[in-house]
This record gives sequence, structure tokens and C-alpha cells, in this order.
Amino acid sequence: MRRPVIAGNWKMFKTVDEAVETVASLATLVDGVSDREVIVAPTFVGLAAVARAARGTNVSIAAQDCAPEPGQGAFTGEVSAEMLADAGATHVIVGHSERRQFFGETDDTVNAKAKAALGAGLTPIVCVGEQLSDRDAGRAEVVVEGQICGSLSGLTAEEVVRTIVAYEPVWAIGTGRSATPEIAQQMHRLIRETIAKLVGADVSEAIRILYGGSVKAENISALMKEPDIDGGLVGGASLDAESFARIVRYGY
Ligand code: PEP
Repeated sequence: MRRPVIAGNWKMFKTVDEAVETVASLATLVDGVSDREVIVAPTFVGLAAVARAARGTNVSIAAQDCAPEPGQGAFTGEVSAEMLADAGATHVIVGHSERRQFFGETDDTVNAKAKAALGAGLTPIVCVGEQLSDRDAGRAEVVVEGQICGSLSGLTAEEVVRTIVAYEPVWAIGTGRSATPEIAQQMHRLIRETIAKLVGADVSEAIRILYGGSVKAENISALMKEPDIDGGLVGGASLDAESFARIVRYGY
């Protein structure tokens, strides 16, 4: 049985105080929800304060990115996975489409970051997803399969099972145009089959695969009815505690 995960990506939004206020309100609103994991991803500067505010609640903390290099070193501007763990993170998003699109991240970069995260004891949330042009050209499956193979390359079965995958079609992110549950399910199935080929069926049946792209309180229940959708990675609708709590509490 795969435990659902609802994760909020706060991107480059919220001051430290705003982030702390939001997590405190969210924690109250989702108190007692124990059958699913609740995660928020503040900016680097807000992470330690948000983690402190969330201590003792059922909200866990993710970073939005990490350095591909482990530990410490002369890498100006970078933050290592170990430092994020030290600041209170338990998860880290890697390979978000905005990082792939605007910061030139490749599957190799994402792979190095996933390995760095796992090495530091963090759960990587590895994002994949096709562009609209890929879908229109009938290449969506090939692109996502390639991203999965590249991003998870060289990970052991034990490491893949500790990983979370997020399927986020780029055309659905921040556009208000969510993939239908059927389209999302088809891709989640393909991702699971790809992972089965990489590291075996046991791992592919255990790994959590989240859907991301214009998830809201209005569409989460339909998405979660699909057999291979294990949760959501939520951008815009996670910024407001009440709106995010409604998503977290789907089905209640
Ligand atoms: C995201 O940024 O990961 C995302 C899915 O954004 P939104 O929910 O706003 O589409």
C-alpha cells in the first residue's frame, strides 16, 4: 500500500515571516490527517525557520533544489543536501521543469542531485514531464521515459524505492490546464513500467508517483482515484494555507 503524498512547492514566493505563518496555519488545518504525507517546500532562506515552526506537526519540509556536490566545498551560491538536512529538510525537489527550462538542468544534473540527496538521507522528489511541443508531436512518452532513465541512472533498487517521482507535464504547470486523470494515469503507468525495467517490479509497485500541474481542491479527488497516482505536487494552490489544506484533505 503506497502512502499518498501531497507536497506544496512555494517556489520564489513568501518572506520568511510569511512562510512561517503559512506553515503554522497549515499545520493547524491538517492536524490529525495521518494517512498521507504533507510536505511544503519553502525557499532556502525560509527553510530552517519553517522547519522549526513545523516541528511536532504532521507537516514535513522539502527544499526546492540542492547542489549536485555532497558535503561542503568551494561552490559559491550552492547549498548541499547535508546542509538542507541539517536545517530541517527531509525531502528535496530535484529537476523541477523550471530548473530544467531556465537553469539548463539536464538529466545528468538531476541524477547527480538525486544521488546527493540520497547520500544525505533526504528523499529526492524527482520531477519529469514533457513540453507541449513534445505532446503535440507524439513524443511525450519517449521524452518522459528518457528523463526517468537518465534521472534515476545508477541508483540501486533500495535508493529508487526511497525516491518519489513527480510527473509534471510542463503545459499543465501554472496554466490552470491540468492533465485529465486519464492522461496522467497513462503516463504514471508508463513511468512505473519504466522503473520496473530499471530496478524490478517490486520497486516499481512501491515507489510513489505524484502528479503536478494545476492541481486544486476541485480536481485532486478525481486524480487520486487513478490507480497509479499516489499524490500531488502543488504550486500555486499551495501558497494559501486554506487552499492547500483543502487539497491535503481530499476525500475527508
Ligand atoms: C509546480 O510548480 O510544481 C506546479 C505543479 O505548479 P502549479 O500547481 O501552479 O501548476
